[in-house]
Order: sequence, then structure tokens, then C-alpha cells
Amino acid sequence: MSVQLSDEDRARFGDDPRALFTENLREIQARIDAACARAGRDRSGVRLLPISKTVPAHILRFAFDAGIRTFGENKIQEAQQKHEALRDLPVSFAIVGHLQTNKAKYLARFASEFHALDSHRLANELNRRLEREERDLDVYVQVNTSREATKFGLAPEETLEFISELGAYPRLKLRGLMTLAIFSDDTERVRACFQRLRSLRDEALRINPNAQGLSMGMSGDFELAIEEGATIVRVGTSIFGRRPGSDAHYWPGLIPER
Ligand SMILES: *Cc1c(COP(=O)(O)O)cnc(C)c1O
Repeated sequence: MSVQLSDEDRARFGDDPRALFTENLREIQARIDAACARAGRDRSGVRLLPISKTVPAHILRFAFDAGIRTFGENKIQEAQQKHEALRDLPVSFAIVGHLQTNKAKYLARFASEFHALDSHRLANELNRRLEREERDLDVYVQVNTSREATKFGLAPEETLEFISELGAYPRLKLRGLMTLAIFSDDTERVRACFQRLRSLRDEALRINPNAQGLSMGMSGDFELAIEEGATIVRVGTSIFGRRPGSDAHYWPGLIPER
């Protein structure tokens, strides 16, 4: 591996990022196994989606060596730069953060999944751009299960109607629902967000049988999410380490309590 590590890289990822990521992934997989066993769920029903925001593209080569093939990114511009930088590798990108409609054209060019669909305007523009690119996109509808004013996503009571109208956008392949639970140390409040998403998903399945997915759970709460039915857990910090600086850029207006 010919990637040169800077001092900054070493300070953040150590002298052997590949070994670090391999070990972290092994640990997370073991925790996912255990959570599935506790919940009586089949392990094949849960996918780990590593979230690599803030991790530089050259470092993602070590993550590739550690076995990661899909990178979850919150910001379209950052994702696009990494996509360009890693063109020689067979990797794909999942966009998990809010997207402004005027950025839909960028997403349509390269992303394989989008976990934050939350408006008709965006759905329409994505569909139009995907049509032009002759591409399809797997989408998850984001629901604001905690009803916090600072969070993106549809209100729970708007979600089913929205889903019933997605047939107007044939390039968008609905795969399920996504949420960010409340940032709280109160486990029951976090769990309530996951339960809300699951019961909405159960109703959504009557409208569209492809909506089985539940994209929920992050480093701090993925085991709880698995207990409540998560099919995709989005884990960043526990794989790549703590992000430098504040997450305010990724979660505007959101000051985590924990
Ligand atoms: C950053 C991010 C994650 C991962 O968060 P961690 O706490 O670092 O695991 C998950 N989902 C979204 C939408 C994110 O932006």
C-alpha cells in the first residue's frame, strides 16, 4: 500500500489505519451479532453501513482493504470528491444527509443510495436527473420521529401519503424508511423513535411491498435499533474514530445532548 500518512493522519488514525478499521469492524460485527441473537433476529437481516464523513479519501483506501465497499456520506460535495478520488476502486456511495434540490443533479450522477428523501420537490428533481443519467436510485424516506424542529424529515403523519405518491418517480426505488433518533441518554425516548419508524414501515408495506428497510441506529444506539427492527445501521465514529471539530456542519442546528 503506497498511501503516505501525514502527521495529521497518524494523530487521528494511528500508524496502521487498516488494522485499526479491521479491528473496529470486527468489534461492531460482534456487537451486531449479539444484538441479533438477543432480539431473536437473523443476522442476515441487518446491514452495516459505515459512515465515512470527514475521513479523507486516501484514508478510505485502508477502509477498502479492511473490507468496506459502500461508504455512507452526509454531504454531497464531500461524497463527490471521494467518488472521484476512488474511481479506481469498486466502491459505491450512500448519501445519508439532507439534500438541497439544486444539488440533485450531482447525486444522480454517482450515488447508489439516498437515505434522506423528504419532499416531492426533491423527488421530482432527482427523478428528472436520474432519467437523464439513465440510472435508478435506491431511496429511503426520512421521517422526523422525534419531531424536533431542527431535524429534517417528514412528520410521521405525512409519511404514508408521501409514499403512496412515489409512483410518480419511476427512477426512485423505494427501499424503506430512515430516521435519526433523538440525541438523548434516555433510552426509552430513543427507543420510541425507532418504534415509531417501525410501525410506520409496517403500514407503508401495505402501500409498497418494497419498503421493508429500516435505516436507523448509529454508533451510540445501533444495538437498540436492531432490537427494534433496524435492517441498516449507519455507524461512523465506532469504525473511524471521533470526528475532529463539531458535527454542526452535518447536522445543522442540532446540538447533541450526549
Ligand atoms: C454521521 C452520521 C451517522 C453516524 O454517526 P456516528 O454517531 O458517528 O456513528 C449516521 N447517520 C447520519 C445521517 C449521519 O450524518
